[in-house]
Amino acid sequence: MTTTHTGTSLWPIELNPSDHPASAEARTAVLADPGFGRSFTDNLVRATWTQDEGWHDARLEAYAPLMLDPATNFMHYGQAIFEGLKAYRHSDGSIRTFRPMQNAERFANSARRLAMAELPGELFLGSIEALVRQDRDWVPEGREKSLYLRPFMISTEIGLGVRPANQYEYLLIASPAGAYFPRGVKPVTVWLSDDYVRAAPGGTGEAKCAGNYAASLVAQAEAAQHGCDQVVWLDAVERKWIEEMGGMNLYFVLGSGDSARLVTPELTGSLLPGITRASLLTVAEDLGIRAEEGKISVDDWREGCASGGISEVFACGTAAVITPVGEVRSRTSGAWQVGEGGTGPVTTRLRQALLDIQTGEAPDRHNWLHTIC
Ligand SMILES: *Cc1c(COP(=O)(O)O)cnc(C)c1O
Repeated sequence: MTTTHTGTSLWPIELNPSDHPASAEARTAVLADPGFGRSFTDNLVRATWTQDEGWHDARLEAYAPLMLDPATNFMHYGQAIFEGLKAYRHSDGSIRTFRPMQNAERFANSARRLAMAELPGELFLGSIEALVRQDRDWVPEGREKSLYLRPFMISTEIGLGVRPANQYEYLLIASPAGAYFPRGVKPVTVWLSDDYVRAAPGGTGEAKCAGNYAASLVAQAEAAQHGCDQVVWLDAVERKWIEEMGGMNLYFVLGSGDSARLVTPELTGSLLPGITRASLLTVAEDLGIRAEEGKISVDDWREGCASGGISEVFACGTAAVITPVGEVRSRTSGAWQVGEGGTGPVTTRLRQALLDIQTGEAPDRHNWLHTIC
């Protein structure tokens, strides 16, 4: 199955938009302070897969509750995957997404891991173009504001037999999103999870599946009990190597000033391959900062912060772009501060540089932006 997009071969979507869209007044009120994931646009896109027909009935229609049989497969056995990406309104009025075919490819990889039907890239991108065009008035204006797009897929065969389902539903919904840090970028305090693991070798850590998040919540609650904002995951086997922070990838700044270089944990199969993570490897090189994948242990982190060998640490992902890590706490490895506990210069520079590309304020040297309208 191909996921390459030629620009002319998008999957046709039948348009049957809502006959009761929000009033301009109601929409303006939402866009003034959208928060995250609270409000949704007037429409959605969906498509159905069956063994006989493959993907069919791709259509845009009014956003509405789904009616589901209580024995619908995914509610019991968790065949459920998702993606997350943003559409930005640029100062020239155009609306663009960032590397959407990377999300399409990862969505197909997630489907394969969960034994689900793969969604063709032309349908993934076609659904995004159709929904964003239809609901374009919901894309907020202003730096760091965006329309967050949430593609997802569930198994919809009815019955309690345990096997890959013979029917799937793909849906795309959209939610206006405000600035992640409305009062300025603020470093987080993280909790090293010694007791719970997110993903093990051979498991589903590489797939963006709902179950990974369900399994992470108890550790997130433990982090909160210790006054931490986020949990940091260690590898499942040695409980020694740093993998990720919550639903974001991590970067370590080694050295400082002109000799600063970046290291991000390598993709071992239990990390989620973030598109922000991959993009920052390139953006850093563009800025003349060496960036590579490697291994960082808990001891490396603690000792590096004590000696000054590690000057900054940050997490990255679509939702917050880049979030600095200011402080680390744990049950077995002690507690320490990263740098001065604030937002370091390399973190600030990278955040600015990536956001400038995404919002059209810097040239798109790598052809990462996809113009929708
Ligand atoms: C989605 C996700 C990320 C970040 O991926 P991006 O493509 O950069 O948004 C990182 N870790 C986990 C566990 C995720 O689910």
